[in-house]
Amino acid sequence: MLAIDFNRRKQVEREVTKGQVAAITEAMRLIAEDDRERGIDREAPFICGACGHQRSMAGSVDYGGIRLCNDCATGYELARITHSVSTCEEYARRRGARRN
Ligand SMILES: [Zn+2]
Repeated sequence: MLAIDFNRRKQVEREVTKGQVAAITEAMRLIAEDDRERGIDREAPFICGACGHQRSMAGSVDYGGIRLCNDCATGYELARITHSVSTCEEYARRRGARRN
């Protein structure tokens, strides 16, 4: 008799499905593409509020005053749907803490 209860699905709810990841990644890619088409300078730099790196404005997303680069915005959206963070501030703080 195995001690594993296969009906325990709790963990699964916290995981992101492949479809969700694909949808978010695609949405973020489109934001970047849109920005470039609208003439946002790919080279215009800003300092990402989460990873702290100098990144391109094209594809960045402003979350209530915290601007994230395309990669971090993707990471934040994924973290948000898994409820591992609730706010952008929290996400940025965690990324910042990992950096130091
Ligand atoms: Zn970043």
